[in-house]
Amino acid sequence: MSDLFSPFIKTDQHKELYQLVKELSGRVKKRAKETDQQAAFSEDNLRDLKETDYVTLTLPKTYGGREISIYELLLVQEKLAEGDGSTALSMGWHLGVVKELAEDDLWDESVFDRFAKELSQEKKIVNRIASEPATGSPSRGGIPETRAVREGDSYIINGHKNFATMASVLDYYIVTAYVEDKEEIGSFLIPSTASGIKVERTWDTLGMRGTASDDLLLEDVRVDLDHLVEMKQQSKKPKGWLLHIPACYLGIAIAARNDAIDFAKSYQPNSLNTPISEVPHIQQKIGEMDFELLRARQFMYAVAEKWDQYPEKRMELGTELAAVKVAATNAASKVVDLAMRIVGGRGLSKHFDFERYYRDVRAGLHNPPMEDAVIQMLARKAID
Ligand SMILES: Cc1cc2nc3c(=O)[nH]c(=O)nc-3n(C[C@H](O)[C@H](O)[C@H](O)COP(=O)(O)OP(=O)(O)OC[C@H]3O[C@@H](n4cnc5c(N)ncnc54)[C@H](O)[C@@H]3O)c2cc1C
Repeated sequence: MSDLFSPFIKTDQHKELYQLVKELSGRVKKRAKETDQQAAFSEDNLRDLKETDYVTLTLPKTYGGREISIYELLLVQEKLAEGDGSTALSMGWHLGVVKELAEDDLWDESVFDRFAKELSQEKKIVNRIASEPATGSPSRGGIPETRAVREGDSYIINGHKNFATMASVLDYYIVTAYVEDKEEIGSFLIPSTASGIKVERTWDTLGMRGTASDDLLLEDVRVDLDHLVEMKQQSKKPKGWLLHIPACYLGIAIAARNDAIDFAKSYQPNSLNTPISEVPHIQQKIGEMDFELLRARQFMYAVAEKWDQYPEKRMELGTELAAVKVAATNAASKVVDLAMRIVGGRGLSKHFDFERYYRDVRAGLHNPPMEDAVIQMLARKAID
């Protein structure tokens, strides 16, 4: 079977990164069923990701990281997702946030310096926790109900967040809140050890169960003033790192495609004198899977290359980045659906991975940006 990754491996560094992640992908694949059942983030996966320095891939070289590009981030994330989508999506948030912080100077230099050193030396992990039950997806622009009130040299934060991926294993949360004295939305860097923080195990979903995206409750959490690290108006730039989302769902689709082809080549019912891979309607579906993957992946990697090679054009890339997400998540859903049709009723069985792929790709619809907003954005651009 042809390797779907080789067309995108272009340099020695790509080769080296690919070898690293190939091994990791194999390891997380073995634990995917268990983490899916438990709806928990695997401690064993976390240990492997730290021991192999996967968690510092996007950290600047000055802090001992690899400072990988967006293109390289997609390459490793897609391969990791082939092993386990949940692990990849979770790591995508961490690696993406670190890359954004390193490149966009969003934080005060001394605060970032302290944070980056901890990441480098202690392999700490971080995520943005923005979603809330009352405001829904932060991409819609709602004002958080989480409130930060100034009290002397501290802020006191109270609120309820949901969809907090990896909440129980994170070292830092970057929590959005309405900052009352500034009358604006800000983000606070909060250590997971802070008093008043509680993770509530609410994550019992159809798919992406291994992300353990539980609720985070903040009750009178007190932080120093310098923990208010960002104000909303600072973050208007398009976010190239969010391409980790399409890469993740395409990785899941590749796993489904590979398993379906393996099955088609090995399954020979006694009504046939060849494996089903020789039957025309199966070949039609295999061709359609590869067509979907080819189109979505070429689009994704081309936009990533543009992002990396032309930093001066990044402000113009917002619609393309958003369109990649929609194209990729829809393609991934279609590929997994085709894979399920190829394997037939066995695809429903918990003894195979197909039903997990099928459930996991569905979650892509609910990661940002949302499809209706992207289509509206394209229409607005065309009309204007
Ligand atoms: C696997 C997974 C991991 C996640 N990890 C994280 C994480 O780590 N951190 C984090 O902060 N979030 C995370 N999220 C949350 C995600 O970003 C969204 O906030 C969440 O999925 C809710 O989005 P929604 O569109 O379903 O909800 P809502 O925004 O409540 O939308 C519900 C419905 O109302 C419609 N709607 C709502 N507002 C508008 C509007 N203004 N205009 C038009 N239609 C509207 C939507 O289209 C949808 O049909 C994660 C989500 C998933 C699925």
